Amino acid sequence: MENILVVNAGSSSVKFQVFSIEAGGRLRRRIKGQIDGIGSRPRLKANGAAGESLIDRAYAAETISTVPAAMAVAGEWLRSEHQIHPVAVGHRVVHGGPDYDKPVLIDHRIIANLERYVGLAPLHQPHNLAPIRSILAGFPALPQVACFDTAFHRTHGALADHYAIPHELYTEGVRRYGFHGLSYEYIASALEQIAPDIAKGRVIVAHLGSGASMCALHRGQSVESTMGFTALDGLPMGTRPGQLDPGVVLFLISEKGMSASNVQNFLYRECGLKGLSGLSNDMRELEASADPKAKLAIDYFVYRIGLNAGMLAAALQGLDAFVFTAGIGENSATIRARVVDQLGWLGASLDPVENGRHARLISRTGSRIPVYVVPTDEELMIAQHTLSLLRKRPSANPKEKVA
Ligand code: AMP
Repeated sequence: MENILVVNAGSSSVKFQVFSIEAGGRLRRRIKGQIDGIGSRPRLKANGAAGESLIDRAYAAETISTVPAAMAVAGEWLRSEHQIHPVAVGHRVVHGGPDYDKPVLIDHRIIANLERYVGLAPLHQPHNLAPIRSILAGFPALPQVACFDTAFHRTHGALADHYAIPHELYTEGVRRYGFHGLSYEYIASALEQIAPDIAKGRVIVAHLGSGASMCALHRGQSVESTMGFTALDGLPMGTRPGQLDPGVVLFLISEKGMSASNVQNFLYRECGLKGLSGLSNDMRELEASADPKAKLAIDYFVYRIGLNAGMLAAALQGLDAFVFTAGIGENSATIRARVVDQLGWLGASLDPVENGRHARLISRTGSRIPVYVVPTDEELMIAQHTLSLLRKRPSANPKEKVA
């Protein structure tokens, strides 16, 4: 059986999934795993298609001290214990810069191009590229595909793509890219199946996870997003502040004496729900807490989603549907109920029973705006892109397998 390996590499973890290619090009998820604690307390965990545990093994810190080492251990485990020799590997790459508006088959030239965007996403891009380079060195004939979080938003018009700063900076790449594009692309394609007429209209999708953003879709294409140059802007997140007056950054530097790297660490790790509550970045813990600061953090999260929904509805000049997705959007009936309450003026009205049972359609009959809950699947999107580029390769040979 032929398989596609999907890789999502971060600074201290590598997540991976294996999809088998079934008849008619259908993809079936077989294995979902990750190595976390790279360089500190590495642990390989993986589950099969039915959620059964396949492995839970700890390693010495020096055995898995880098992302490529983690990739090598996961690859060896897949080969030796599951006889998985993927026909291609699809990677999540956070930044495709201004140039890449769709996934690409990787070669040395593409890697060199993607290196140029390290400065645009210093915390993510180097870790995304590390396994690509190590696989290319170890298995030069194995096709690899880069799928970008920014690509889906390259349909934005000039107004959505600019900041009001001198044009030279725009030329140098300071643009409103938007992120979570693979999630939005998946939701746009799922909506075509769930509600084809709605999918042709004006839809706001709220990706509410530990990272959170919202996207305005028109006819299935992104026209505006709450995220911009980096994944810091827009909604408050687990540990990131969302929209912030740049004057606050100046204050941190000039009055608090913080260096650029202190500010970066602060903005990515110490703000958002965690900073505001002083308790946790996890919505479950905040919902369970009686602390007034936990309540403030949740209230702020809901309020900002409401404000941003108004902004995106203005960009769309109206609204035909609203979709919740990702960890909080898929699982927290309480947050959904409170957000829909904020959307009342746009014509959304909740069905509390359907919301409580996490139904796909959670608005009541007669609500002017249907409200959906659609679980996202960025990995399936990456596997689909990888398969489709694999088949379009000039030298495509479906029987070709690489060790
Ligand atoms: P994600 O980044 O999409 O995996 O989402 C992760 C976040 O979803 C976690 O940090 C939690 O805050 C949140 N989450 C997951 N399950 C629930 C739940 N049942 N209720 C509230 N929040 C949840």
